[in-house]
Amino acid sequence: MEPQVARVAAEPSAFDMALQQFNAAADKLNLDPGLRQILSSCKREFTVHFPVRLDDGTVKVFTGYRIEHNFARGPAKGGIRFHPQVDIEEVKALAMWMTWKCAVVGIPYGGAKGGVICNPKTMSMGELERLTRRYTTEISILIGPERDIPAPDVNTNPQIMAWLMDTYSMHKGYSVPAVTTGKPLAIGGSEGRNEATARGCIYTVREAAKVQGIDLKRATAVVQGFGNAGAAAARFLAEDGVKVIAVSDSKGGVFNPNGLNPWELIRFKEETGSVVGAPRTERISNEELLELECDILIPAALEKQITAKNAPRMKTKLIAEAANGPTTPEADEILTAKGTLIVPDILANAGGVTVSYFEWVQDLMAFFWTVDEINQKLEGIMQRSFRDVKRMADEYSVNMRVAANMLAIKRVADATLIRGIYP
Ligand code: NAD
Repeated sequence: MEPQVARVAAEPSAFDMALQQFNAAADKLNLDPGLRQILSSCKREFTVHFPVRLDDGTVKVFTGYRIEHNFARGPAKGGIRFHPQVDIEEVKALAMWMTWKCAVVGIPYGGAKGGVICNPKTMSMGELERLTRRYTTEISILIGPERDIPAPDVNTNPQIMAWLMDTYSMHKGYSVPAVTTGKPLAIGGSEGRNEATARGCIYTVREAAKVQGIDLKRATAVVQGFGNAGAAAARFLAEDGVKVIAVSDSKGGVFNPNGLNPWELIRFKEETGSVVGAPRTERISNEELLELECDILIPAALEKQITAKNAPRMKTKLIAEAANGPTTPEADEILTAKGTLIVPDILANAGGVTVSYFEWVQDLMAFFWTVDEINQKLEGIMQRSFRDVKRMADEYSVNMRVAANMLAIKRVADATLIRGIYP
């Protein structure tokens, strides 16, 4: 027990971080103490332990979570993460951030998140399918198109969403595509969903670059994390004329001061499992990568990467948080004082949930839009949301994170007050 207590004391959890961010915004809003209690608690915290038969015939019990933070503005929405380091405090933080994210872009959802403690990289497709189907069954008392709608997150993908949708549908006896988003197109997925997080992030980068006086055609960028969000973000940056000088994944990073070719790196990673070792690149550690001099930094991996330790050494003008929770509150203060503009996660990566919302709407209507319609609607929402947050930041003289949280918390608080406290 002792080491765990010590670890918790030394390093605040992701949920502690989420609460600290919440309180900073709630203070500025002078939020009523009752509303503070409601909005800082997760409404439902569900833990499941379930067996999965492995390929060698043995049985292993896995632990998973589904947390629903808030429903005031609509059904709960949030991804599912498969990772060895998933813990309940992380899932609670991610669920709370989902509530604020949906509110900041004005889509009618509350927040949820799920996770399973596992290492999908060491599991076969058969094992992953059995794990996904059993976990879906365990959480099926919570999920549903009007209640709680999952989506992909770290190490989950359209195939896993297809198994989830199929399992839920088998229990119902009919197909329920709207139970999850991020599905393959063949079963009711949406055009543009795979790249939506990165695309939305780039729309905010374009707005933020104007604020910071960055000319994208002459700018340099660094991307941490080369998965669904990060690899597509690198591609979109390059399409905008930005020179992407370094990227990384869990095995390490690669650097070329003359610019990398994201398309080549995507192919190389598909073939070898990592960007490390790609031709015409120098190897670089994840720590070094975050401290490179660049105009734009896109963290697109995991939480707590930018901390009080490395923030003083960072040399970037603009950070757009494709990842959830990459910056600790201490690092936030240090970077804000240095003049770095941070587009916070709940705004910068909201493109994913926005197109998930489009997917859900299309599934419910059984009528599908073209990729141009999707991207145009997404761009409108991201631009409007960026400007709403910037206006709030200017009006209250706060940074973009505090402003985004203020805007979101105010919207959820208003919905809660209008609905009233039952009974
Ligand atoms: P993913 O599993 O597709 O990719 C994660 C990437 O990060 C992988 O390349 C992995 O190797 C890398 N990585 C892991 N640990 C790392 C480390 N310590 N240093 C550098 N790289 C590391 O996951 P994703 O869906 O792209 O999610 C990435 C982040 O974006 C997460 O914080 C997630 O919550 C957030 N996000 C994703 C979506 C979405 O639609 N997928 C939406 C909103 C936010």
